[in-house]
Amino acid sequence: MTKKYHLITLGCQMNEHDSEVISALVENMGYLAVQTPDDADLIIINTCAVRKKPEDKVASLLGKFAALKIEKPDLIIAVGGGMSQQEDAAKYLKNRFPYLDLIFGTHALSRLPDLINEAGSRRNTIIEIDESYADREGLPVAHSGGFKAWLPVIYGCDNYCSYCIVPYVRGRERSRAMTDIIAEAGKLASQGYIELTLLGQNVNSYGQDLPGQVTFSELLAELNQIEGLERIRFMTSHPKDLSTDLIETVKNGEKICEHFHLPVQSGSNRILEAMNRRYTREHYLELVNSINRNVPGVSITSDIIVGFPGEEEEDFLSTVDLLEKARFDNAFSFLYSPRINTAASELADTLTHAEKENRLQRLNQVQHRISKEINENLAGQTVELLVEGESKANSEIQSGRTRTNKLVHFKSNKDLTGKLVRVKITEVRTWNLIGEIDHAPWQFQPK
Ligand code: SAH
Ligand code: SF4
Repeated sequence: MTKKYHLITLGCQMNEHDSEVISALVENMGYLAVQTPDDADLIIINTCAVRKKPEDKVASLLGKFAALKIEKPDLIIAVGGGMSQQEDAAKYLKNRFPYLDLIFGTHALSRLPDLINEAGSRRNTIIEIDESYADREGLPVAHSGGFKAWLPVIYGCDNYCSYCIVPYVRGRERSRAMTDIIAEAGKLASQGYIELTLLGQNVNSYGQDLPGQVTFSELLAELNQIEGLERIRFMTSHPKDLSTDLIETVKNGEKICEHFHLPVQSGSNRILEAMNRRYTREHYLELVNSINRNVPGVSITSDIIVGFPGEEEEDFLSTVDLLEKARFDNAFSFLYSPRINTAASELADTLTHAEKENRLQRLNQVQHRISKEINENLAGQTVELLVEGESKANSEIQSGRTRTNKLVHFKSNKDLTGKLVRVKITEVRTWNLIGEIDHAPWQFQPK
């Protein structure tokens, strides 16, 4: 009988992409994907360690799976990803959930089939967090969805922002060879993928570790030449090394989407320094100006951490002020969450949870107002959408994303999933827009 697997993914786009590799590897072993853990012979949780919330979720999931393991002793339960990669967390998982069969870190993907086979024949928990298997070039990928795909360009991170666990769980920066990336992009395009999202913790450091020192802008310019691709996205950009070259390339590359995800984290220079971000609010705001000046219609989104140790009301107000000046299309705000081994985890937490929550809410209120105001400028305009499918809330409605990554809902009795359409915006909301298909003849607008 065909064996079945159930995969749960927590965390960011890089984790979602890792899960596509995990899926391909286990499917090559003969497993078939199932939507519920109850039917599975193999359950894998791909974890994230960036904040505490997803870690708590792992514990609650594993608690639930205990009963399944009693019912089906041959069930293999595996935990991978960022949480597993940390030695302390891996030991904690093994002690607290002794029925776990396999704990594998972010560097162990190439060994996964062997590890699963081994786990099936052993009684004790296997832990694999050795970094020497980190090379993953050539591993298969089960792309989910036939028209858009993730494409990692650089793994790991060398920046050591003081709050962040990523350098510890994803290792040193490793750029993929440009020829490998271009070959993969070409193959995806020939298979009908029209949108690629290039992934990296900091795409701007792409190439610095490669012979000849190619730059991210050069990579983008090459990808822009690939026939069949319609849209190229990228994330994340670190403000400390976002170059004028990159802004030019986005301006000129007709396939490169006009969207920058440029996390600022804080608007206070004192806190930025304590975070080891290595830029000032003034530099950041200059970047935002330069992007807005050079790339018409661009959208800029950001991440913000609220309640970093030592954040005074004055620092927080500087962040609010930055929001007013930068006018992001959207900003994702997170409560600071101390992470083991990071420099900031040594600093005393000066705020209560209620104070942090209060700041988060105040910040979100400001951002929601700004997001709505910006979206209002789109009313009556016609925009290009890549249709992603039926809306989650209503199957008669379809949804798509603009080049600037805004979500638009519209009515259509034809399934347009994976197609580019033009839609006229008729209604504006904070989180999304409503539009109707525009059948007017297409007029090419050079960038
Ligand atoms: N490489 C990206 C961020 C990856 S983590 C960058 O440099 O911007 C995604 C987001 O999670 C970060 O931008 C930050 O806002 C948030 N984050 C990271 N560590 C955190 C922590 N310890 N507590 C709260 N938020 C955190
Ligand atoms: Fe973390 Fe900073 Fe690296 Fe982003 S750049 S992954 S926030 S250490």
